[in-house]
Amino acid sequence: MTAMLFDESGVALPADGRLEEIHRLLLERFGAPEPRVPWDPLSQFIYSLLSSRTKTETTYAVVAKLKETFGGWENLRDATLKEIEQAIGDVTFPEQKAMQLKGSLEEITRRYGRLTLDFLAGYRTDKIRGWLEQFPGVGPKTSGAVVNFSTLRRKALCLDSHNLRVVQRLGLTPRADAPTTEERLMRIVPESWTAEKMDDDHQLVKKLGQTICTFAEPKCKVCPLVGLCKYGQRELKVG
Ligand code: SF4
Repeated sequence: MTAMLFDESGVALPADGRLEEIHRLLLERFGAPEPRVPWDPLSQFIYSLLSSRTKTETTYAVVAKLKETFGGWENLRDATLKEIEQAIGDVTFPEQKAMQLKGSLEEITRRYGRLTLDFLAGYRTDKIRGWLEQFPGVGPKTSGAVVNFSTLRRKALCLDSHNLRVVQRLGLTPRADAPTTEERLMRIVPESWTAEKMDDDHQLVKKLGQTICTFAEPKCKVCPLVGLCKYGQRELKVG
């Protein structure tokens, strides 16, 4: 059952008010995230493909190294698997990701005639995501990141492991996998939220997941969302 959430005066919030209130409290605690300078869709795709189970700073450093080593993404595509694997050695599962990366870059070139994803700007968001998710290793998290974080700037919620854990503990939607959770959350995202605000929300929730609502030990007593959280309210009663 979905948890009922209340504002500071104890008034029950409408469905789309829950996310707004959570966003407000996180902004109050962490401040506004640094404005993102969006990358082109292909660069974002490469970053997101490499980023799973890898620290953000490490993935940024690896992408910077790839740019320095290979110059253009065509050179990365044409490099050998061994060369790519060596260049991305700091991310998790480099062998598997090197294969996915090379395979995807070759397939994009084969389908579009050259290596770019800029043409996706002409597609509907659901079509873009479906198109991207055909590639090996590309799921809703990667496709969500490409459509929301890149210059495509479409409305989408990119649910990484931190976001998913926080949303589940909050009891915002019934427990489910990331794609189903995203679908359910999108139904309660306020109409007025822009793609940029969804990006900010992703970053704020991620920060909460990294610092307070951690996998090992949620620190509910110091969490700004405890008054709205199903798990947190239970913890407070027990403690
Ligand atoms: S109250 Fe606890 S479980 Fe809920 S979001 Fe905060 S840290 Fe996570």
